[in-house]
Amino acid sequence: MTCEEFDAIVEPVAAGEMEPSPAAAEHLAGCLRCASAVALARRIDSALAAAETPAAPPRFTAAVTTRLRRERWRSEQRVDRVFNLAMVAAAVLVATGVGMLFNLTGLTAVGRDTSQLLSEGLRVAARQVTAQLPAYIGGTGLLLTAVGAWWWAERAG
Ligand SMILES: [Zn+2]
Repeated sequence: MTCEEFDAIVEPVAAGEMEPSPAAAEHLAGCLRCASAVALARRIDSALAAAETPAAPPRFTAAVTTRLRRERWRSEQRVDRVFNLAMVAAAVLVATGVGMLFNLTGLTAVGRDTSQLLSEGLRVAARQVTAQLPAYIGGTGLLLTAVGAWWWAERAG
């Protein structure tokens, strides 16, 4: 047997998976090169067995990075949608609150009938405001809720 022929069976012989033929055994006994090849293969095998950490697939890191990026993008899209909805809701609440304040406290009338209100004096306006106080408080509450929602949306975004 030649060294080249023995090279083909170094791995299985070193791993104990193959019993060398009489010719191979004879070559191994008389050849320092092939004997050290078997010894090296045995050292590599035992080193690999000792460090039994499974290697990551070649594209593992890239795949994980891509997936993380996609997940992050998706969650940002979700946050954006929630933020936009909150902004629309806040804008509607603010508009409603301001509208309520103007309509229910008679402040619209201030713009419309300024001269009349001025001639009747502040007493009428005060009485109007007092009469509409519950609505005024309700409108203010709605406005504060809207501002709170706005603040929350800003903080969440
Ligand atoms: Zn040899």
